[in-house]
Formats: sequence, structure tokens, C-alpha cells
Amino acid sequence: MALERTFSIVKPDATNRNLTGAINAMLEAGGLRIVAQKRIHITKAQAGVFYAVHAERPFFDELCEFMSSAPIVVQVLEGENAILLNREIMGATNPADADEGTIRKTYALSLGENSVHGSDAPETAAEEIAYFFAGLELVG
Ligand code: ATP
Ligand code: MG
Repeated sequence: MALERTFSIVKPDATNRNLTGAINAMLEAGGLRIVAQKRIHITKAQAGVFYAVHAERPFFDELCEFMSSAPIVVQVLEGENAILLNREIMGATNPADADEGTIRKTYALSLGENSVHGSDAPETAAEEIAYFFAGLELVG
């Protein structure tokens, strides 16, 4: 399979605890290359656009409040089968269900404050990368 790119976020619960480096080490050890990365503080409205697919869910307001509560680190990760590989390295959405050795099992605080985001399909990966990164940031 060809090299693939996926989009990743180190969420506020993790940046608050200064875990960006520890999480990046797990991504790299798992076989992913961080090809673009920046630390930003998004607004609640920007979080709402990013998570628009969940707009009708009961946790949507809480999720957007959380994602805009502190800086996040947005990333583009590259590797063979990167989208699926990153989901494996992250672990299940709810840390209680995540496998040992995954990021969420190791660091997530709860279902909501679960430390990382990762794209779930090629279409969403492309959309999410384009939402946060300009073409010039993605060269090389
Ligand atoms: P992400 O999209 O952040 O990578 P995911 O794909 O594993 O996570 P989704 O179903 O897309 O999970 O949910 C998006 C995010 O919304 C979750 O990561 C979590 O932070 C939050 N979330 C999901 N379900 C709940 C819930 N029942 N209560 C509170 N927060 C939730
Ligand atoms: Mg998701």
C-alpha cells in the first residue's frame, strides 16, 4: 500500500498535562511520521465546524466547549495505512474499552476528555487536513 496521510489532534486534556511529547513518541514508535504540526487555540464555533457530523448528538455542546477550552496540537501524520494505524495506536474512543498500550488507555481521562483525535476514513482525513493546514505547510 502507498503512503497515506491522516489528521490528528492532541486534545486540551493532554496539552494541559504537557503530554504532547509523550503522545508524539507513541505515534512515532507506532510507525507514523509527523509531517506537519502546530499548536493553536480554536474557538467554540471553529470546533463546531470541525465536529459538525456530531451536531445533533447530546454531547455536542460539551465537546465543542472542551475542544476550545485550551490549546490543541493539530498534526498531519504519514505512514503506510496511516488512517487505520493511527486509530489502532489511539485505542477505542472510551478509554475504559481501549487496549493496553494505546494512547487513550495510557492517558485519556474519560470518554469526553480522551486525549487524541484521529480521522476515520480517507475522505475525512483529506477534509480535516484542509481545514487546519494550508498547502504551503504540507510540502515535503
Ligand atoms: P475523534 O473523532 O475525536 O477521533 P472518535 O472518532 O473515536 O473520536 P467519535 O464518535 O467521532 O469518536 O466522537 C468524537 C468525540 O466526541 C470523541 O472523541 C469524544 O471526545 C466525544 N464523545 C463521543 N461520544 C461521547 C459521549 N457519549 N459523551 C461525551 N463525549 C463523547
Ligand atoms: Mg471521530
